Amino acid sequence: MSAEDPKVGFVSLGCPKALVDSERILTQLRTEGYEISSTYDGADLVVVNTCGFIDSAKAESLQAIQEALEENGKVIVTGCMGADESEIREIHPDVLSVSGPQQYEQVVGAVHEYLPPKKDHDPFVDLVPPQGIKLTPRHYSYLKISEGCNHRCTFCIIPSLRGDLDSRPVGNVMDEAQRLVDAGVKELLVVSQDTSAYGVDLKYKLGFWQGRPMKTRLKELCQALGELGVWVRLHYVYPYPSVDDIIPLMAEGLVVPYLDVPLQHAHPEVLKMMKRPGAIDKTLERINKWREICPDIVIRSTFIVGFPGETEEHFEYLLDFLRKARLDRVGCFTYSPVDGAPANDLPGAVPEEVKEERLARFMEVQAQISAEKLQEKIGKEMDVIIDLVGADGSIGRTKGDAPEIDGEVHLLDQTDFQPGDVVRVRITDADEHDLWAETID
Ligand code: SF4
Repeated sequence: MSAEDPKVGFVSLGCPKALVDSERILTQLRTEGYEISSTYDGADLVVVNTCGFIDSAKAESLQAIQEALEENGKVIVTGCMGADESEIREIHPDVLSVSGPQQYEQVVGAVHEYLPPKKDHDPFVDLVPPQGIKLTPRHYSYLKISEGCNHRCTFCIIPSLRGDLDSRPVGNVMDEAQRLVDAGVKELLVVSQDTSAYGVDLKYKLGFWQGRPMKTRLKELCQALGELGVWVRLHYVYPYPSVDDIIPLMAEGLVVPYLDVPLQHAHPEVLKMMKRPGAIDKTLERINKWREICPDIVIRSTFIVGFPGETEEHFEYLLDFLRKARLDRVGCFTYSPVDGAPANDLPGAVPEEVKEERLARFMEVQAQISAEKLQEKIGKEMDVIIDLVGADGSIGRTKGDAPEIDGEVHLLDQTDFQPGDVVRVRITDADEHDLWAETID
């Protein structure tokens, strides 16, 4: 690197899928010889990858753009919020360029325009790590398998931002996974908007990886990923019948026994208003069947309370579902309108105080279930992946915990590890969110 290397600052907001977009843009820029600056004033310009999912995320994105403009002055905007350029330009007319999600060429093109790359850069000399630039810690990485979504949930604008389902060729996904594993990644977090639909748009087309024929389908992908010898975790899985085929792979240990299934609600009428599959009895049956095949399976879900038209009866039904389903990890949000979402036009808006009151009741029911489920783990032996090693001990996760959203395992006074190590432990204590453990020799 030299003082003349063009330097780009980068602000990445939003979900794991947006993080993957940021990583791709950064990898491309590094390949072209750009230096990445960690400060605004050390950068020649700043790229802000925005999130436009809900109003609070938009506000955060606009705030980040403002900060970058004040601190640096040369700002390129991309990401979900960039899908509506006028919304950004109305508030920040001085940004240099605006592009939408996955518009890698446009972002990189804008960087070229306002900050030309170094002329004598040789990508074979100035190395980019083969796995690309990772924004996640080195021992785990998100693996995006598709873009877009074929559903039209009424509270969501992602299909209008990201388009219909567009699955990546299975060989490309596997190449990326192999590169990550070769570079030291110990856990792959499979993400997309709708993971169980992987390959539907390609009619499960036959692809190839390392000369081996492979269908573009979740089951085959999971099998091949599992053979890489690292933890493979599935996020955003719809409870389609096809998911039943994945559970035996969890029982065999190829995929970690963890499913992140965003259910959003349980009452058929609310699900209908949300335009989501409404057969919740089938979902419950399916969950029970999964537990029969793989008793260790940990199920995470997210729900929305206070959706327009949700009555007290609908909400009670949801609580009842929670008590029956006894899910392990649950997130809950109050409904908040998103600009452009069809749900905004639905009648029966729920007052804010009712939403908050329902959220509190929901969390009370679930907190007890989660606490009971974690108590059941005391005395059990399990594998833990180490995330952090400090002076007083280490912090890791079981196969049932995804990074950043689920619980942690605290290993007090145990510092002899490296992040990414997988150690065998016995669980000694639990609260309603985390576990404590000691290692087993
Ligand atoms: S499944 Fe529904 S909530 Fe998820 S991205 Fe698709 S439309 Fe949005």
